[in-house]
Amino acid sequence: MPRDTTQTSAPERCALCSSTDLSRFLARDGYAVYACGACGLRFLHPQPTSDDLVELYGERYFAHTTPGQPGYDRYLDELENIRRTFDDRLRYLPGNRPGARLVDVGAAVGTFVERARRIGWDAEGLEPSTWAAQYAREMLGQPVRTVTVEDAGIAPESVDVVTLWEVIEHLPDPASTLRAIHRILKPGGLLVLSTPDAASLVARLLARRWPGWGKIPEHLYFFDRRTLRKLLEVAGFAVESSRYVPLVVSRQYLLDRVSRVIGVSLHRKLSRAWLERPIRVNPGYDLMVIARRR
Ligand SMILES: [Zn+2]
Repeated sequence: MPRDTTQTSAPERCALCSSTDLSRFLARDGYAVYACGACGLRFLHPQPTSDDLVELYGERYFAHTTPGQPGYDRYLDELENIRRTFDDRLRYLPGNRPGARLVDVGAAVGTFVERARRIGWDAEGLEPSTWAAQYAREMLGQPVRTVTVEDAGIAPESVDVVTLWEVIEHLPDPASTLRAIHRILKPGGLLVLSTPDAASLVARLLARRWPGWGKIPEHLYFFDRRTLRKLLEVAGFAVESSRYVPLVVSRQYLLDRVSRVIGVSLHRKLSRAWLERPIRVNPGYDLMVIARRR
């Protein structure tokens, strides 16, 4: 949904630190990314309307097969690989005792909930996309409710772990969502999140070709270790660790991504069987942060 921003004024203040020292970092499809000179936060301006977001996160977002379109190419074709990716990530979660309560916020089609329940977590998902939450319930049989964490009615201090996989960059008001997560977590409970690191070496080397900047207007904020830490601390969390995590994808998916960055198709002559084989890659910018509720 390209828009005309020639009429749009610059943002007034940084959403994280309230500084007015803002400069335009890049512009694309009628949106601009602004950078805060004080705290380093980068964010989309103007932000899409809530109607834009409802339209964006329909079936096409999760199920389209056109590389370069918003959303996840082949999300459903890659489901087996997404399962493997989440199995890897579950190993980083400490305190994995059966029956411990986990809430996956922004659960998409419920794949992480499925993997967590499989090893004994009492897990449920929250997903505002009607299409994705319904898919989770009906196709994967997972307890995923069509609701935001703010409106989920979960009892305060009742949850051991909240996960937020590639979600925080999509949230219109991440500080408010983190406060809602803080309320439902037990004291000492963990928030585990991942997001693309806009200050990673890969992002800096690729500059404007970094795939993270292509995620407009889906990504509303572009975080790095420094801005994430500040956001989490303001919401009442202490960062315990951060690391770049791998993901499992098909060779087809990987080659699509690389082809798009370098502008050359790499896989025309490769066999389908070869392309479908999974591969574990660490792109060096998918940052996972574990934070403890204070
Ligand atoms: Zn700022």
